[in-house]
Amino acid sequence: MKFHDIHEECGVFGVYGHPEASNLTYLGLYALQHRGQEGAGICASDGKHLHLDKSMGLVADIFSEKRLKKLPGHLAIGHNRYSTAGSSVLKNVQPIVANFALGSLAIAHNGNLVNAAELREELEKEGAIFQSTSDSEVIVHLIAHSKIGDFYERVIDAVKQVRGAFSLLILRENELIAVRDPYGVRPLSLGRVDGAYVIASETCALDLISAEYIRDIEPGELLIINEHGLNSMKPLNAPRLASCIFEFIYFSRPDSYIFGRQNVNDIRKKLGVQLAKESHVDADLVIPVPDSGVPAALGFSEESRIPFDFGLIRNHYVGRTFIEPKQNIRHFGVKIKLNPVRKLLEGKRVIVVDDSIVRGTTSKKIVKMLREGGGAKEVHMRISSPPIIGPCFYGIDTPTRQELIASTYKTEEIRKYITADTLEYLSLEGLKGIVPESHNFCTACFDNNYPISFPGERLAQMELFLK
Ligand code: AMP
Repeated sequence: MKFHDIHEECGVFGVYGHPEASNLTYLGLYALQHRGQEGAGICASDGKHLHLDKSMGLVADIFSEKRLKKLPGHLAIGHNRYSTAGSSVLKNVQPIVANFALGSLAIAHNGNLVNAAELREELEKEGAIFQSTSDSEVIVHLIAHSKIGDFYERVIDAVKQVRGAFSLLILRENELIAVRDPYGVRPLSLGRVDGAYVIASETCALDLISAEYIRDIEPGELLIINEHGLNSMKPLNAPRLASCIFEFIYFSRPDSYIFGRQNVNDIRKKLGVQLAKESHVDADLVIPVPDSGVPAALGFSEESRIPFDFGLIRNHYVGRTFIEPKQNIRHFGVKIKLNPVRKLLEGKRVIVVDDSIVRGTTSKKIVKMLREGGGAKEVHMRISSPPIIGPCFYGIDTPTRQELIASTYKTEEIRKYITADTLEYLSLEGLKGIVPESHNFCTACFDNNYPISFPGERLAQMELFLK
């Protein structure tokens, strides 16, 4: 398996102590669908047995009332999976269930582990048989193979060995355990509804089931929820925090509050304001690339006092283009997804705002579309994040360094490639000025400063990529 084969940005959701645990999990996953569209699964416990159902596809397409009825019990966890080629198979869809000496367990994991391959090799030498190619299965085997003490000690032993990003839910017959890596890379929050506890990747999932937000699961925290209530431990330490700044830029839903009550929409709008301050240009109209560019475009319009409108209409029934595993389908996807509104654009000088440029393919198609289909006179591309120069090894699905257009080309070269009249990105300083306590965030995709180190051999590979 290549270094970059598995990229996972996912959504997790769990319930403890509710008669409709699997129904709530279904709804939670529905609200977290943006975090992964490849496959989904729910594992519920009736106190005696774990019941699992998982499939490829979207949550609403997978689960029917009939299927949910087969997931009885007061406890459940669920997972939405997002992944690229090579690993898009059912056996990689989570939760992963395993039976071992101390009973059964199911896990749902959001994030990427940087030392999964090494751990896997060691485990296989010791006789472990893996069912999938997913990082997350390593955690299951580490728990099963641990020889230390009781179940909790085994979990702690396991999560101390893995390095990287993990917002993790573990389900047993009678308890739910949540663990968040000590860097706090991915979000995870705790809520309450009808006396039951719920845990979700983002608060938008709590809102849908009218759960009240209690707090974030802390970086490095292990939280046990069972008949004794909540039991929180802090077994994991890291030299610093490294929450993913890209959650604010693209990944999380704007209505969510993540990383200590920061509203995603609010931050995105402020990024747009800052972008307008940094890169003003005379124009007639500000339009977003829907949906991810909308808050920043609103902020840009507010600050520049150039009118805002929806010059591109999105077909909401198409999956995100990035999700498609094959390049040729992805190109096609832009056209399928967006259509320009000629009446608004014709003869106008248009500022088009998007949240990021990854490979540059989307921007190129959009500029072309605005000129040809829309009749725009000028097209000024504004990006509400800095150039992406480094791949993510912690779970946001960005491609290899060579495929990231900004890692090889200067802004002026990218402008030419996408055929825009002007192209400006938000500065890294500008971004850091908007995100509160930005020193606690990972900005590796913008500055190649990777806060979680890699095992020796991998580091060498990374250095090669950096050259
Ligand atoms: P590209 O065509 O490769 O430059 O992709 C840029 C587009 O992908 C932008 O419109 C972004 O909103 C979107 N995008 C950025 N990051 C991701 C991601 N991790 N997953 C899916 N889409 C993304």
